[in-house]
Amino acid sequence: MPCIALLPSARPFPLSPIIERTFWDGIQRCTHGDFCASCCWLWSGRCTKAGYGIFYAAGQYTYVHCAAWFIGHREQCPPGMVCRHICDIPPCGNPCHIIIGTQADNLHDMFARHRLGIGANIPPSGNDMARPS
Ligand SMILES: [Zn+2]
Ligand SMILES: [Zn+2]
Repeated sequence: MPCIALLPSARPFPLSPIIERTFWDGIQRCTHGDFCASCCWLWSGRCTKAGYGIFYAAGQYTYVHCAAWFIGHREQCPPGMVCRHICDIPPCGNPCHIIIGTQADNLHDMFARHRLGIGANIPPSGNDMARPS
């Protein structure tokens, strides 16, 4: 899934406070704490045809999972990288479930999961937040 950096109207991060607020307003969080890694936090707003959450705020479209990455990590998704779900749930906006990788990683993952079964082999990302326990 292309990250915000590839959207036509995208602006550089950091996210404006309005975008961040819109993100939290539309996310259905669980009750297990600030950064629960176990649950998917589903987006209650508009979604793309592919099922990814998206919203319009501060003059730009932002993907929910891209905003989640930024909010969880406080850094910009590097150019050429894409935000990916480790949970395979497109409308999920839980920062713990978003990692970044290349488009090639994405395709490799899809292949591996279909072969091994969904979620059977989540590769370590080098970031504790991205690894559900
Ligand atoms: Zn939870
Ligand atoms: Zn999730």
